[in-house]
Amino acid sequence: MTLDELLTRSGGVCEFCGGDLRLGGVEVAPLGPVVLCAVCRGDRADSAGHWRCLEGAAWSAVPAVQYAVWRRLRSLDEAWATETRDAMILLPEVQAVVDAPDAVEHRDSNGVVLAAGDTVVLIKDLPVKGTSMVAKRGTAVRSITLVADNAAHIEGRVDGQRIVILTEFVKKK
Ligand SMILES: [Zn+2]
Repeated sequence: MTLDELLTRSGGVCEFCGGDLRLGGVEVAPLGPVVLCAVCRGDRADSAGHWRCLEGAAWSAVPAVQYAVWRRLRSLDEAWATETRDAMILLPEVQAVVDAPDAVEHRDSNGVVLAAGDTVVLIKDLPVKGTSMVAKRGTAVRSITLVADNAAHIEGRVDGQRIVILTEFVKKK
């Protein structure tokens, strides 16, 4: 979907708050893109009350928007957010994704399931993007984190630098 098509769907405004500040498409895997303004794209809203816009957006008839709202509410550590999320009536497409936490399963090169906090070993030399560094084969990466929404990516620290690593190039220790 192009940004133009997205903007037609959204009526030319942010699908969370209805604002129009620097609108852009954001991919919400696996349900597709949503249009968000600069404030809603950021991790932090300009004002604490900003996310209250989600109470209205929760009723969107677009599965991707509803799922994006659901996830954002989950990331907010506030009572109203939990209540709003609990009260949401999810579209069937969204319910299916929410009910399938295993949809994103991170597996190493041998197909072994990885969990956050695991230690993995690199099975080949990996150039680190944007640097001249090469993470050497055999390097142990401790306490990995899993990249949500992307089963092929994990993150870990190599030589003090936090990098994204493809799961196909690691082996669980
Ligand atoms: Zn917005």
